[in-house]
Amino acid sequence: MLWSDSDADLKAAALEIQQGNVVAMPTETVYGLAANALSPLAVRKIFEAKGRPADNPLIVHISEPEQMVHYAIPDVRAQRLAECFWPGPLTFILPKKDTIPSVVSAGLDSVALRLPAHPIALRLIREAGVPLAAPSANLSGKPSGTTAEHVLNDFKTKIAGVIDGGACICGLESTVVSLLDTRPVLLRPGFVTPEQLRQVLPDLIIANAVESQLKNSEKVLSPGLAHRHYAPEAETIGCLGQPEQIFKYLCTLQICKQDAVLCFEGEEKFFSVSIVETYGKRGDPESQGRQLFDALRNLDRKKPNRIFVCVEKTAGIGLAVYNRLLRACSFRMIDTERITGL
Ligand code: AMP
Ligand code: MG
Repeated sequence: MLWSDSDADLKAAALEIQQGNVVAMPTETVYGLAANALSPLAVRKIFEAKGRPADNPLIVHISEPEQMVHYAIPDVRAQRLAECFWPGPLTFILPKKDTIPSVVSAGLDSVALRLPAHPIALRLIREAGVPLAAPSANLSGKPSGTTAEHVLNDFKTKIAGVIDGGACICGLESTVVSLLDTRPVLLRPGFVTPEQLRQVLPDLIIANAVESQLKNSEKVLSPGLAHRHYAPEAETIGCLGQPEQIFKYLCTLQICKQDAVLCFEGEEKFFSVSIVETYGKRGDPESQGRQLFDALRNLDRKKPNRIFVCVEKTAGIGLAVYNRLLRACSFRMIDTERITGL
């Protein structure tokens, strides 16, 4: 079922939620696969539809900041973050209350909360009258869904329906901050940047896993950090550097016709391969974030042998784009500017 944003359609979608079914909704970050967060049976359906490992907890979406106290034990930092960044693409993790079933938190004592800014998501939460557990709407491990079409491609008849809200404005999942320890920890970068967060939380730490692969001995602060993520079917390799340098590097690798390049807009001319896709502009991580998952999904459809992705490492929203690409590439990131003799 494909619903519009009409009142009648939102009521139909909310009814599905109340009956314990799963509905996909647009948010400003990515589409979410939503179910009643207070019903373990309904939440289990999300895990089944996605093929999500049971040890990876879900974010709970609320529609008013005051609802936070029903589900978590907030502190003054949570209140400040909510005042500054809600509604918006920020999730924070707090000690949970018993109202949240353990299937939502994957057995942890904590819960992730977010108040999204998308009007359709807010209307759906209010109409359903319950908080919504909602992970990104994609098969586990695959690029997140940022349009209703992406969601239908992945889930077809596996869910009750999708509310079509067009393409997501951010295109990358929410920023996730843990407030479980004395010092707040950034677990996943997003459109709310470390620089913005530090205005409120000057002692914010960035988890090692944001920019590098977890070592076996390292403590997993967020189960999602340990899982394979955002990955296209084909082997994917990230390439840092200017386009001329990246192409010189590719020439040393015996590239073949079925290899693809994902580059920045306006740089297609540097790559003489048959499959070239773009994701936003160099120096403009906002446009990159908005288009990244759509581009990875388009490439998947063309069934390339390998995908070489042009990457730049920048601050702000750029950290979020880099973090997703590191995982899409299973941490294979080559700095072509450091290769001498090209
Ligand atoms: P997604 O549902 O795809 O947006 O991913 C949600 C992210 O938040 C995953 O990386 C989860 O591991 C993380 N997360 C959700 N709840 C918690 C929690 N209680 N503690 C730590 N990480 C969490
Ligand atoms: Mg996800």
